[in-house]
Amino acid sequence: MTDSIIIGAGPGACSAALTLRMRGKSVLMLYAGGGALEKAHQVDNYPGMPAISGRDMLKIMHRQAADAGVEMKKAVVQLVQPGKKKVTVLAGNEIFTCKTLLIATGAPRKIGIPGEESLLGQGVSYCATCDGMFYKGRDVAVIGSFQEAVEDTAFLCDIAAHVSYYPEAKHDMEALDKRARVMEDKVLSLEKNGEKVMLHTEKGSRDYDGVFVLRPAVALSQLVPRLETEKGKIVIDADGVTNIPRIYAAGDVTGLPYQIAKATGEGNRAALKMAKDMDALDEGGKEQ
Ligand SMILES: Cc1cc2nc3c(=O)[nH]c(=O)nc-3n(C[C@H](O)[C@H](O)[C@H](O)COP(=O)(O)OP(=O)(O)OC[C@H]3O[C@@H](n4cnc5c(N)ncnc54)[C@H](O)[C@@H]3O)c2cc1C
Repeated sequence: MTDSIIIGAGPGACSAALTLRMRGKSVLMLYAGGGALEKAHQVDNYPGMPAISGRDMLKIMHRQAADAGVEMKKAVVQLVQPGKKKVTVLAGNEIFTCKTLLIATGAPRKIGIPGEESLLGQGVSYCATCDGMFYKGRDVAVIGSFQEAVEDTAFLCDIAAHVSYYPEAKHDMEALDKRARVMEDKVLSLEKNGEKVMLHTEKGSRDYDGVFVLRPAVALSQLVPRLETEKGKIVIDADGVTNIPRIYAAGDVTGLPYQIAKATGEGNRAALKMAKDMDALDEGGKEQ
């Protein structure tokens, strides 16, 4: 079991990872992509790194983390399940466990199509490799918005009878499996229709046996059920502690200001608390 898992690889995550490593803790960073910093054309307000592009800054942060012994893995985290003795994390088709977990997933955005969340497990899935086999020889739709969705569509094309691909955002679809039918119309909502899922678009409605929603981000309510949020932001105390034991948060995901310095500061503070809590748990374990 890893000491700490961090969801994200932006400034909040990298800062926390370095602090945890310096406290002798093992760290796994699971990240979907570049996050907000990658989009910054030029950053002028971070001490020690004048006039640098966000992309270059992120590269330096990742190199520094790797040099410090942080393990990094590209994977979208779909679900976090806190337990008494460990936290279980589902990412892609892999399961990880840790003693403490930091959420550093960046600015909260409204994610999801009406009907999507209530139909999860009832014809709607976030994981093609986990649930694809349930749809052998059947009709499925993919609502995709990033490279992994394109890759997973090839896997689904091998299993399902027909695959329709609905691009949800602009992304490179060059490698999309030719067997998938690209649907240009925007998906508006999903609805249960007997055994099937009815997909409503601007141009009409169509039934599918299964709908795979493959995005580089997951709504917080879905990622960590029962996590306390306020206006979409995670509620933390001064040490980055959330309402759920062993789970901490830092960076844009806890609210304004959306700034690199705030994210790194919160990441550092949360990591110090995580290390302290893990030491206390280890001591408690020894005494029993
Ligand atoms: C165009 C632009 C310009 C900016 N310019 C500046 C500037 O000049 N100065 C400044 O201080 N700030 C600037 N910012 C803001 C700054 O980039 C953010 O405040 C900072 O990046 C926040 O860091 P973070 O670690 O909280 O989140 P982010 O950097 O957004 O990182 C979030 C991470 O979480 C990952 N993630 C999200 N969901 C999941 C999931 N379910 N599973 C796995 N990984 C997940 C993402 O892939 C990413 O790695 C700018 C932002 C933008 C968009």
